[in-house]
Amino acid sequence: MKQQIQRPARVDRSLRPHHVAERAVAGLVVLGMLVLFVFVRPQQPASLTSADAAQAMLDFRDNMPAASTAERIGQVTSGAAAADVLEVLGASATDAAAAVAALRQTGLVDRKRMRPGTALTAYFDESMMDSETSRLIAVSIKPNAKNTLLATRQADDSFFVSVLTARLVTSRRRAAGVIETDLQTALVAAGGTPAHATSFAALFPDDVGLAEGGHPGDRFDTVFEVAEDERGNFIENGDLVFAAFNGETSHGSWYRYTPGDTGRTEFFDANGVAAQPFLTRYPIGRAPINSGFGQRYHPLTGQLHLHTGIDFRAPAGTPIKVAGDGTIAFMGFSEGYGRHVRIKHKRGFETLYAHMSGFAGIKEGDAVKAGDVLGYVGDSGSATGEHLHYEIRRDGRWVNPMTLELPSGRNLASDPAELAAFMKQKSEIDALRGATQATELATAATLLPVIQPNSP
Ligand SMILES: [Zn+2]
Repeated sequence: MKQQIQRPARVDRSLRPHHVAERAVAGLVVLGMLVLFVFVRPQQPASLTSADAAQAMLDFRDNMPAASTAERIGQVTSGAAAADVLEVLGASATDAAAAVAALRQTGLVDRKRMRPGTALTAYFDESMMDSETSRLIAVSIKPNAKNTLLATRQADDSFFVSVLTARLVTSRRRAAGVIETDLQTALVAAGGTPAHATSFAALFPDDVGLAEGGHPGDRFDTVFEVAEDERGNFIENGDLVFAAFNGETSHGSWYRYTPGDTGRTEFFDANGVAAQPFLTRYPIGRAPINSGFGQRYHPLTGQLHLHTGIDFRAPAGTPIKVAGDGTIAFMGFSEGYGRHVRIKHKRGFETLYAHMSGFAGIKEGDAVKAGDVLGYVGDSGSATGEHLHYEIRRDGRWVNPMTLELPSGRNLASDPAELAAFMKQKSEIDALRGATQATELATAATLLPVIQPNSP
């Protein structure tokens, strides 16, 4: 796939000052000089990472009369300032400082924030070859995916900076297939990213093993956003907007949507019911269960008693996430639970997290949201090893987190306008999937059976 390839960004010519042409003194002859220096990694002008700089150069070149001019490309490495790079490329210290000062005035170039790997192209007038340093006439740099900066030398030897902005367009792409070894490998092979695999697995927490890669034969279908320039050249991958899974131990389809009232982006099933349950059964994700809920002989006292929660085995320091929106009702230490937190949720529910090694910047009375980190796994209190003891209580009584019928999350159907907006977005995604499926009939590997959405 060509997603990893950076192509020249379309630049907005209207932003370029018209006087560049008059002020520029020389045309461009590409020398492609290799500069070997500790701060600078040389690059061939045709290399992919310098392609964006090359686009700015093309615009620049359009306006340059032919003369003896050299173009040299350097790359910012960690620890190197832009001015250092320019000097290594052959600019005098004065010219380098003047150009960088002008570039910094845009607020887009900062010595500390400049990303290592950022390409920088310097243009020199080499008609006066008797000098030790070349006369710097322009610098182009691309500090981020959207912008290219072009600093050009003025008659008074100061530099004038034009900000060229790519117009990014968001489109959507589909990546689907069958897991052969693991989800990430299959998703990346289909055009997705490792981050998509992580987001995908989080949407199917009930699947046994999906977070560890899934099972061979499991089928996945995704649609994600991609940012492109106006010519349709790929710029960067965006987030998942659709995820369907037909696996050995779970299945379902989820559509991303941001309700207008809360502004909180979530995934919903085909009927508009949120994927995020009212409470999760897995506050540290899928982890091995040491001990389930119910009567057992206590490992330390040897007496039969009710084990009031689930023990998830995990190494100390594993982040524990809030099971559902609520308020911190208690945090502190007790002999049995050790360091623990109790959270009050709506509808009479409470959750409790015990044997923690530490808390994560929370305090009693804080409102917390599902997924917030509240602390870390440990073995404080009466614990035989590092684990999370997780309890759910309903109306003051302990219930089994694994078998409890959890209330569903938000249902968009309660708000007709919201549901209509969601359905419109859903049908766009479905249309894309349908269209992609039709064009891919020949590729059996990417064909999927129709996946039934989860019933609420
Ligand atoms: Zn326990």
